[in-house]
Amino acid sequence: MANCLFCKILAEEIPAARVLENTDFIAFLDIAPAKPGHILIVPKKHYENLLDFPPEMGTALLQTIQQVGAAQMKALGAEGFNVLQNNFPAAGQEVFHVHWHVVPRFTKDGLMHWPQGAYASLEEMQAVQQKIRNATSH
Ligand code: AMP
Ligand code: ZN
Repeated sequence: MANCLFCKILAEEIPAARVLENTDFIAFLDIAPAKPGHILIVPKKHYENLLDFPPEMGTALLQTIQQVGAAQMKALGAEGFNVLQNNFPAAGQEVFHVHWHVVPRFTKDGLMHWPQGAYASLEEMQAVQQKIRNATSH
């Protein structure tokens, strides 16, 4: 895909610190890491976001995530890791070639989860529940 940053990295037109490659994915260090060792997993084919990504690639994706997370724990001494994935600009997606962030974590490393909201009422939850159930019941 022309003008796609990650397609250019895949084509080696732009350098990246690659850490892993398999049949369907490459993984490389994020240029602006949340923590050192923050890795992006990128499919070799261009899919814009998770809604375009073929579900049948899910097993290979999970195996790749497991490999990367385990390597962060083994090689960097990470005590855990987060897997994050942003879809559409409202959710923080900046590169429109689907990718998974794997961020190594340490106890009290200063990184925050998104803030927990106030507890929802039963009525609020039921209203949302009904909408989502309607949208998924096909
Ligand atoms: P997202 O906001 O989920 O689309 O994430 C895009 C990520 O790509 C950000 O964390 C950036 O730091 C990262 N990024 C942007 N350019 C590069 C690059 N040339 N090499 C490695 N990572 C990059
Ligand atoms: Zn691309």
